[in-house]
Amino acid sequence: MKKFYIKTFGCQMNVNDSEKIAGILRDLGYEKAGSPEEADVIIVNTCSVRAKPDNKAYSFIGNLKRIKKEKPDTIIAVGGCVPQKEKKSILRFEHVDLVFGTFNFMKIDELIERARKERVVEVLNSKIREEDRVPLIDSYLENVCVAYVTVQRGCNRFCTYCIVPFTRGRERSVKPELVVQEVKRLAERGVKEVHLLGQNVDFYNYEGTDLADLLYMVSEVEGIERIRFTTSHPCGFSRKIVEAMRDIEKVCPYVHLPPQSGSNRILEKMNRGYTKEEYIEKVMMLKEEVPEVALSGDFIVGFPTETVEDFEETLSLVETCVFDQGFVFEYSPRPFTKASTFKDDVPKEEKNRRLQELQNLLKTQAEEKNRKRLGKVEEVLVEGWSPKGKELSGRTRDNKLVVFDGDESLIGEFVDIEITETSPFFLKGKVLERVESILARKG
Ligand code: SF4
Repeated sequence: MKKFYIKTFGCQMNVNDSEKIAGILRDLGYEKAGSPEEADVIIVNTCSVRAKPDNKAYSFIGNLKRIKKEKPDTIIAVGGCVPQKEKKSILRFEHVDLVFGTFNFMKIDELIERARKERVVEVLNSKIREEDRVPLIDSYLENVCVAYVTVQRGCNRFCTYCIVPFTRGRERSVKPELVVQEVKRLAERGVKEVHLLGQNVDFYNYEGTDLADLLYMVSEVEGIERIRFTTSHPCGFSRKIVEAMRDIEKVCPYVHLPPQSGSNRILEKMNRGYTKEEYIEKVMMLKEEVPEVALSGDFIVGFPTETVEDFEETLSLVETCVFDQGFVFEYSPRPFTKASTFKDDVPKEEKNRRLQELQNLLKTQAEEKNRKRLGKVEEVLVEGWSPKGKELSGRTRDNKLVVFDGDESLIGEFVDIEITETSPFFLKGKVLERVESILARKG
């Protein structure tokens, strides 16, 4: 039997594209290889949002030369955001047989067949609607109970630092009926929690059906007990979405709402489209309507011209909003973006100092929030073994990672867990009981 190996860099959207590529290959009779050395087809799904994953992908691709030399029949394919924008940067690797863009993965079977005979480069740049382009493809799921469903792709906003509008094209939403159909198929396969994914998911709009409407539609699917959505953009995050979160039992109280900066001057330079005050207002509305909500966000420090005073505005936004989790990145210029023409004038050491300070604040907030969970009983959906493989892990409704002792039979089940230990990044606990269905219990 032929084997495939996929290496994915970047966001959940890339992970979901890779799951679909794996789904296509599985339907063709391939099975998953444990390592690139064992595979007949190696696929690298790249990310170009930041310099780090970009460089990691290049080094991974470079290392595949050895395998190609030892097993010349192995097909090496590179797809995703990097070739979508810069084919040349991949073509220089002579051992790569197939180069494809973000719009081409659904034809991976045909592309691989062609690549057996000649080098293939296929990078489409199309504005065709999503449903004409992505047929319903069953994903190859690593996780038995949690699945991603991409509902919106692309972005029209052109933040000055971001390459996504150049690699993922303009914003397009998937027809709601197709989303529901995909969620039903996942539920039939035992999935209990779905994550609706979009570059800016809260701008989801298909001929007037918006994200709140979609949440109601997806919540009707039997077997699905939890719904999450990500990533939200502060401009698209509306009262209607917040009310849907408040009113639909299945929608989990967790929002990833990246502020990026707390300085109005920097937000304008980033072309984010909102002010610090508007961001805070949305968070306050959310916390008022959904008091149990957990909030996470992304931050960029050291954006061109960012002063200490600008950075302090970011710290003050964080102090006001109080986050459960935050991801901080030092600014790095990306090719083709407007910000890459700005002078990258914040010294590396100062960027790093700001990163540390912001991370420390976020860590303290997370620590304090998590400490309040000590002794409480949490509903957890058990997703699998923790990375060290000795304990099980799962998530609460508000997306807190919980690890605990237990056996394999609990994977895919809901359990009540008493929290016995906390840290800024995860909770530890012990299983009290297995719960048949969270919704059935709530009547
Ligand atoms: S909203 Fe801005 S950061 Fe987000 S994908 Fe679009 S351009 Fe990039």
